[in-house]
Amino acid sequence: MSVETISAGKHLDRNRLALGSDAQEIAKTEHWSLSRDADAIAWLVLDRAGESTNTLSETVMAELETLLEKVEALQPAGLVLRSGKAGGYIAGADIRDFAGVSQSNEVEARMTRAHAIVDRMAALPMPSVAVVHGHCLGGGLELALACRFRIAVEGAVFGFPEVLLGLHPGLGGTFRLPALIDPVEAMKMMLTGKSVHAAKARKLGLVDAVVEERHVVNAVKAAISGKLKPTKRGAGLSRFSFYRGFAARKMRAMAAKRAPEKHYPAPHRLIDLWEDHGAGNKDEMQKEEIRSFATLLTGETAQNLIHVFFLREALKAGGKGDSGIAQVHVVGAGTMGGDIAAWCAARGLRVTLSDLDEQALAAAIGRAGRLFEKRLHSGIARRDASDRLIPDFAGDGVRQADLVIEAVAEKADVKRKVFETVAPLMKKDAILATNTSSIPLNELLTAVPFPERLVGLHFFNPVARMELVEVVSHDGCSDAALARLAAFCGSIDRLPAAVKSSPGFLINRVLTPYLTEAFVMLDEGMQKEAIDQSAVSFGMPMGPIELADRVGLDICLEVARTMRAGLDTSVPDVPGWLESMVAEGHTGRKAGQGLYTYDRNGDPVKNTKHPVPDGAMTDRLILPMLNTCMTCLREGVVTDEKTLEGAMIFATGFAPFRGGPLRYARARGIEDIVNALERLQAQHGDRFNPDPHWRKLSPI
Ligand code: NAD
Repeated sequence: MSVETISAGKHLDRNRLALGSDAQEIAKTEHWSLSRDADAIAWLVLDRAGESTNTLSETVMAELETLLEKVEALQPAGLVLRSGKAGGYIAGADIRDFAGVSQSNEVEARMTRAHAIVDRMAALPMPSVAVVHGHCLGGGLELALACRFRIAVEGAVFGFPEVLLGLHPGLGGTFRLPALIDPVEAMKMMLTGKSVHAAKARKLGLVDAVVEERHVVNAVKAAISGKLKPTKRGAGLSRFSFYRGFAARKMRAMAAKRAPEKHYPAPHRLIDLWEDHGAGNKDEMQKEEIRSFATLLTGETAQNLIHVFFLREALKAGGKGDSGIAQVHVVGAGTMGGDIAAWCAARGLRVTLSDLDEQALAAAIGRAGRLFEKRLHSGIARRDASDRLIPDFAGDGVRQADLVIEAVAEKADVKRKVFETVAPLMKKDAILATNTSSIPLNELLTAVPFPERLVGLHFFNPVARMELVEVVSHDGCSDAALARLAAFCGSIDRLPAAVKSSPGFLINRVLTPYLTEAFVMLDEGMQKEAIDQSAVSFGMPMGPIELADRVGLDICLEVARTMRAGLDTSVPDVPGWLESMVAEGHTGRKAGQGLYTYDRNGDPVKNTKHPVPDGAMTDRLILPMLNTCMTCLREGVVTDEKTLEGAMIFATGFAPFRGGPLRYARARGIEDIVNALERLQAQHGDRFNPDPHWRKLSPI
């Protein structure tokens, strides 16, 4: 055994992570290092080579096994499992290992090997301590659960996000977490995929202590010397099958409300597992967890959701780099401007916000306070965000801003007037962005002397929930401005999608036929609840009628008009009743009255009695969207399929379990889609004419 002094210690010092004093390196593999400190404590550190984040791949696990063998031989006083990445602990399994797998028996074999390694870790005779900073997710948490103690460094985050990939924990989490904390809380974490911060984790008993980084060594010593007692809540009533049966029924009802089992089976399989095997028989549960995980992983939903994971990564990659934007000025404190300003302030930028209407400004600041309350986890973070958001009635902030975002009414002349006012005041290299939903940028360019720095930055409603932002280019804008705006999106945790200016850009262009077809169906006498249900049963987050109300019927009307005026496609006529409703102020959810009436919570009042929608109705709504996706690809509104698929999922919520519109089309068969469009064309008119680009789309 070669003994190399301190290299691991030095590395960690560089990242300001504690490793005890005088640690001597005992073994090193590609991704791990094992060292021993003066107190005979072994430190097993994961620092994945060539990656910015630690994840668990097959190689990482195999190396862990080799090092555990060494630990067993070494018999240290205790073992610490920690990450060498300053950015965090372990983000979970390496999802690249999961893509494209189709043989569940192969997955079972792989998982059984990985379980044996984690079991070996859990069976070590000396106390083991996971010291966790940053994110500890999925497989990372499962490794931490196999340790006798878990010490969280302030700011650590714990979670099982597997359900978001159509899976449940697969490396022992389904039995180790319910054995450690209240099983119902454990199930809640696994079923929702929501993470918990250090303080909550302590409360749940998931961690034994929360310390600051500088106290890690002392905390480790306390754990290993026996001064710190491990927290264990025990299984309580859930040892009894009648109790699990009762709780499982409630969980199933909740899970079904969030997502139907047919589309998202994972939560239901997890509940089955717990109900059937949650009495505390670890071996049985382990076997069943592996089997169930392998079935889910090789199923359609998980593979599609894994595809969506990579779509998100691709969009995220487009938002890397330094935007040079530290200060933002937003003009218009309405629904969008107010929320964009609040979001930017919550994400660390200095923001000034102006509006003609003082009340709108005050209301936006009030909404921002509520957002900070909900999304920021400490009083200091909330106070700092509030300090960064400055109401600026006079609009003085324009002079200091690196980016000015316009979010006033959807009228080209109003927007041009705003530009004429702000452009002369802006810094020389500042960017002017418009949040217009549909106005082609060339209609706005004449109002600024620097078209190269005028770009579209189209956020979606609600800003805090919708991750996508369209970064809209036009022929005269500079690549530098586009790159800075993409990086700006990345800096505020948003996913930039590069699109070309044309009426409605990508997302509203694609959504318009979905909404307008629903209006035609209403005109034909179909019940709005049935129309909405036909889209929801396909997997859309809400139906087109509810969506129109949510967006605002006034905005829908303007978008539909712009599209009809500017596009050479057959968008149905805007119905007369839509114009009357808008004129009467019945603009949707924001007015309490639109196509639905809204209750005090802002929920639509729906008639539960309606005809069950059929597949033909669903096709009539969904296929025009898909057809328009083809048109956008053909016209170059969006240049690549990945951006199109990702944008549709993260802006419209297009049925994620289907993996995106093109993946859906390919799975169903392009020929079948074209035939269905032709049938609809014969029945309802040329707006269903299949786009020629279908013929160019590769079948897989
Ligand atoms: P809104 O009516 O809620 O807010 C507009 C605000 O701008 C109002 O508070 C108004 O007082 C203010 N305003 C008008 N003229 C102004 C001026 N000259 N100077 C300063 N303030 C002025 O509208 P909204 O829904 O927030 O939409 C704003 C923009 O965002 C529009 O272009 C819209 O198309 C776009 N958009 C809207 C949505 C949506 O769902 N509502 C989604 C994406 C994009």
